[in-house]
Amino acid sequence: MSSTVSALVTTSAGAAFLRSTIQRRDVGVNDVKIAIAYAGICHSDIHQAREEWGSAIFPMVPGHEIAGIVTEVGPAVTKHRVGDRVGIGCFVDSCRECDACLAGEEQFCAKGNVPTYNGREYSGEDTFGGYSTEIVANENYVLGIPEGISLAEAAPLLCAGITTYSPLKHWGAGPGKQVAIVGMGGLGHMAVKIAAALGAEVTVLSQSLSKQEDGARFGASHYFATSDPATFTENNSRFDLIINTVSADLGVDAYASLLTLNGTMVFVGIPEKPLAFSTPSLIAKRRSIAGSNIGGIRETQEMLDFCAAHGLGADVEIIGADEVNAAYERVIKSDVRYRFVIDTATIPAPAA
Ligand code: NAP
Ligand code: ZN
Ligand code: ZN
Repeated sequence: MSSTVSALVTTSAGAAFLRSTIQRRDVGVNDVKIAIAYAGICHSDIHQAREEWGSAIFPMVPGHEIAGIVTEVGPAVTKHRVGDRVGIGCFVDSCRECDACLAGEEQFCAKGNVPTYNGREYSGEDTFGGYSTEIVANENYVLGIPEGISLAEAAPLLCAGITTYSPLKHWGAGPGKQVAIVGMGGLGHMAVKIAAALGAEVTVLSQSLSKQEDGARFGASHYFATSDPATFTENNSRFDLIINTVSADLGVDAYASLLTLNGTMVFVGIPEKPLAFSTPSLIAKRRSIAGSNIGGIRETQEMLDFCAAHGLGADVEIIGADEVNAAYERVIKSDVRYRFVIDTATIPAPAA
């Protein structure tokens, strides 16, 4: 048993998105059905739809920044009610019994969590993401979106928000800390907003100064162009924490040289190829390089509540289904201010 749902589908690596339909399972006892209002376009959608990270599952419906309204709940559901504003992020299930799951860090599930798209349920069915009009998911993997953040501005928080909030919290961004954000795109602009709201002194390291005014509006105190070599001498040994959101290979050593004693550079951007570094650039000041992967359900809810309390949402450009292919090209050119969000009401094929 299932229901037919409108979706934007790509059928092979790099193929254009077309309007089509997919099947969603019926609401199980612990499931909620969500009428999706908005779905953000994360750069990870592009990496996967173009098989930049290796082979992917097609047909594919990307989208792991999902915001909408609950329309139906299973009989055993206690966490959400019909009419609630809710979201879904990067995974829709996990084993629920490994140490990571029990610790609320389902992103590190030992069995492997179930990705919201380009993945398979434990029962074997393909998963389809948010570029669609409805989704059905277990209630434990559905987040509450607080009043005060619009659904369009909340959608990107489900990936861009948590992916930056989690390392900022883990590495102690806060008052007295110098935090640099490399790349001010979807993740980067949320990193600036959240780091500033946590009380850190925030610096943006961007390819150019073209977005400097926006950086200041998001809460950055300083803004430098990485195309200018002086940026690296001026900021030598300055930062306690660098969040690197770029998926291009910018070189590791030059950025490591910006870390102070005991500083850490955390990669959240995922380049296609391995990066190289020389150990003296770390040894010189007991520096660390690290990585961070989205966040768990509990921390994602904490992040949403934090953003609502601080009046934070993503800066979005709302687009229709017809604009998604062009939007991908604009994201690749760093021409996005700062997240494209699909209005899913435009996905069903117009009546002939
Ligand atoms: P995005 O919106 O495209 O932002 C990336 C930013 O990187 C751009 O806006 C640009 O900022 C900078 N950039 C791009 N190309 C560059 C180049 N050639 N040289 C220097 N800087 C460049 O992408 P996103 O959605 O934020 O995602 C960023 C990365 O994080 C992707 O690889 C994505 O897959 C990954 N990701 C990881 C996780 C995780 O859990 N770790 C979660 C989500 C996404 P400036 O113009 O300001 O320089
Ligand atoms: Zn993402
Ligand atoms: Zn697990």
